[in-house]
Amino acid sequence: MKVLVVEDEPGLAEVITRSLEREGFVAEVAKDRATALHKTADHQYDVILLDIMLPGGSGLDVLRQLKHDGMAANVIIISAKDSLDDKLAGLDLGADDYLTKPFHIAELHARVRSVLRRKAFGGAATISVANLMCDPEQRRVTVDGLELPLHRKEFDMLTYFLLNKGRLVSRGSLAEHVWGDHADESADLDFIYSQIKNLRKRLKQAGASVEIQAVYGIGYKLVEA
Ligand code: CA
Repeated sequence: MKVLVVEDEPGLAEVITRSLEREGFVAEVAKDRATALHKTADHQYDVILLDIMLPGGSGLDVLRQLKHDGMAANVIIISAKDSLDDKLAGLDLGADDYLTKPFHIAELHARVRSVLRRKAFGGAATISVANLMCDPEQRRVTVDGLELPLHRKEFDMLTYFLLNKGRLVSRGSLAEHVWGDHADESADLDFIYSQIKNLRKRLKQAGASVEIQAVYGIGYKLVEA
């Protein structure tokens, strides 16, 4: 899961980013309005944490662009300005939640998980495909009820495939979601091939009734076997 932290205060941005990474997220930072607009136009994020008062303008502009582009990111406004106006403007523009600074990191994590559950998992805490069950909060996967141990990146890849079940996932977008914004700029995405190979092997050994199919030259697709 990939999170964009739009926050101009370097200390706070770092605390949030590090804590999200410890929770298993890929986290990117945008320190001003222009960077936030570029990043959200060029990359996909599962969650965007959005400060309102930014160098160069308002975070609400980012929200307007997302809405204009029809992007499905989950947006949580994080703002020191706790005026009702700001909150209403943000929610009006399609933000999913609002958190007033200062906040506890644990509270932020809870909100991030909550918006992800609401949107990505249709309100459920887990996602099930065939005999495979994935619990993103516990970072746990089971096959026929038995735990399937996965390395961190294998888990991230599998979750991304499950969320996109039956849909083509390009190697670039997989790289971005699992390794971060700049992974897709790397000329050599061959590392994905070996990661996929390992993941397939683990799924097969565990008897999972899902298959990661290669779509030649483009990417992969997870289907029920
Ligand atoms: Ca600010």
